[in-house]
Amino acid sequence: MTGTRRRQFLKATGAALVAAPYLWRRDARAAGGRVVVIGGGAGGATAARSLAAAGKGLDITLVEPKSNYVTCFFSNLYIGGLRSLDSLTHNYDALSERYGVKLMHQVAVAIDPAGRTVRLAGGDVLSWDRLIVAPGIDFQWDAIEGYGPEAAKAMPHAWQGGEQTELLRRQLEAMEDGGTFLIAPPDTPYRCPTAPYERASLVAHYFKREKPNARIIILDAKNNFPLQDLFEEAWTRFYPGMIEVLPADFSGGVKGVNPATMTVMAEGEAFEVAVANVIPPQTAGRIALQSELADRRGWCPVDPMTFESTHQPGIYVVGDAALASPMPKAAYAAQQQAEACARAILEAFSGDKAEATVLGGACWSHVSPAHAVYERAAFAAVGGALQRIELEISPTGESDSVREAAGLAGEAWYAGITADIFG
Ligand SMILES: Cc1cc2nc3c(=O)[nH]c(=O)nc-3n(C[C@H](O)[C@H](O)[C@H](O)COP(=O)(O)OP(=O)(O)OC[C@H]3O[C@@H](n4cnc5c(N)ncnc54)[C@H](O)[C@@H]3O)c2cc1C
Repeated sequence: MTGTRRRQFLKATGAALVAAPYLWRRDARAAGGRVVVIGGGAGGATAARSLAAAGKGLDITLVEPKSNYVTCFFSNLYIGGLRSLDSLTHNYDALSERYGVKLMHQVAVAIDPAGRTVRLAGGDVLSWDRLIVAPGIDFQWDAIEGYGPEAAKAMPHAWQGGEQTELLRRQLEAMEDGGTFLIAPPDTPYRCPTAPYERASLVAHYFKREKPNARIIILDAKNNFPLQDLFEEAWTRFYPGMIEVLPADFSGGVKGVNPATMTVMAEGEAFEVAVANVIPPQTAGRIALQSELADRRGWCPVDPMTFESTHQPGIYVVGDAALASPMPKAAYAAQQQAEACARAILEAFSGDKAEATVLGGACWSHVSPAHAVYERAAFAAVGGALQRIELEISPTGESDSVREAAGLAGEAWYAGITADIFG
């Protein structure tokens, strides 16, 4: 990576921010103001809270099977032994008690776009005037030979918050000193592009203290990864010799696994390891695929300003499930998309037009307990497509005090975004 990354304002800045006249028809059903949201994560919970907080008397139902949501964001700090699982766990009490969002703790199993209904696993059928689909990700279980939901109990992906995260932490705690921990990140696109490398950093920190003879192999499906020079700079300084990266050109990434022998197969090589964190390729959450909201690649195309599906009018997709590149699949992006989508829905109900807006935010990666690096970006709909209009990335060679300040800014971000999402 080069210094050109520092602060790039792309040509499109400002001038091309389209104030596209997204005019909405006020249809008879829209007047009822019933909104159903599927998925109570960073995207869905934000959308529900945002619509309710507008105080327009909408009837909002959030469908989410879990009563507690454990964030994936900051889960690497838990896996590295630096945070408790409790500190990552949030509930929906404020959404229902303070904002009046109706909660259905169930799985949505079928969407009927023509009839404007959603069927839940328990048999309930909810009617909607606008539907927001925010189910996060699912996995391509057939992509890696031998790896499926059963194998994930021995070789956790830990790429959805909760049980899997906890399992990986327990395995690392139980691992003997001198063992090998293998992380197998997928090719892009996937949830939180920097997270496998932040995970390697914080597990290396844990090993350095507790199991100094352990080592980490990153068996990557890519040749390069985001913020690579920043991570490698930190690894050389804090964890010399502990982390080995095997890029795609070397191994082709993970091809198969055998959980019974804890073996991970690459092209022409097999690794017998103590703990394997296999992160399979991903798609939008299953309900989005089943409802024909997704394209051939498994992600859901959306209008870049309103996040309304380009496949199904009246249905919106936000968060990781949406095809919103170049926005990363990140919590901050999900939250920004959900806010934009909520504004568009409010405008649709009132018959106003949606205003063009800039979506932005930052992602912090901890390279050690006290040091973090960041990537800050802004995005806008330009000429009918989302484009990155601003990018700022930590430079290499920053002082400890700057990296420590970034670590604190990351902590403040987590407190702020979870308060915003869950009310
Ligand atoms: C290790 C790791 C670290 C990360 N760190 C960061 C970070 O530092 N910063 C950052 O911005 N992002 C980070 N992320 C990314 C972030 O976690 C995701 O981008 C974000 O959670 C996406 O939000 P979402 O609402 O799309 O999906 P989710 O948060 O996964 O929420 C989806 C919800 O939908 C529910 N659901 C699914 N299907 C159904 C259904 N059929 N019916 C009802 N409910 C359903 C699920 O139960 C889930 O609660 C990280 C991710 C990982 C894995």
